[in-house]
Amino acid sequence: MFDELSDLYQQVILDHSKSPRNFRVLPGANRSAQGYNPLCGDNITLYLELDGDVVKSAGFQGSGCAISKASASLLTEMMKGKTTGEIRSLFNRMHDLVTTGKCEGAPDGKLAVFAGVHKFPARVKCAILPWHAAMSAIEGKQDPVSTE
Ligand code: ZN
Repeated sequence: MFDELSDLYQQVILDHSKSPRNFRVLPGANRSAQGYNPLCGDNITLYLELDGDVVKSAGFQGSGCAISKASASLLTEMMKGKTTGEIRSLFNRMHDLVTTGKCEGAPDGKLAVFAGVHKFPARVKCAILPWHAAMSAIEGKQDPVSTE
């Protein structure tokens, strides 16, 4: 399935899925949410430490395919120091990117690696799953998020 992704993007995704960043339960987490993608079997729990409106720290646990893990890894890196409003707008851009291959303006940093995902409709949910979990954690929802 990676054939059409460029080598560079493939490397970033493989790197993050093999050695995911922030792959841990956050001791200071005050928000968490679980995301489940039954189509692929991705099951990811996201932990956030929110200080007012700013994400101080983020982590995740769970199991999933390379795309969902890489997405969660990059997401937890990107969220640090951002406000919930900024994360919401990043979510919208990421959503556009994985469903259409582009977003308004240039994709933010490493998010660009997911631009090729829209060619693989079954993988779109893998890429966006951790983001749904993040939004759910920010909104303080209790129910697990499912992509179905
Ligand atoms: Zn997946």
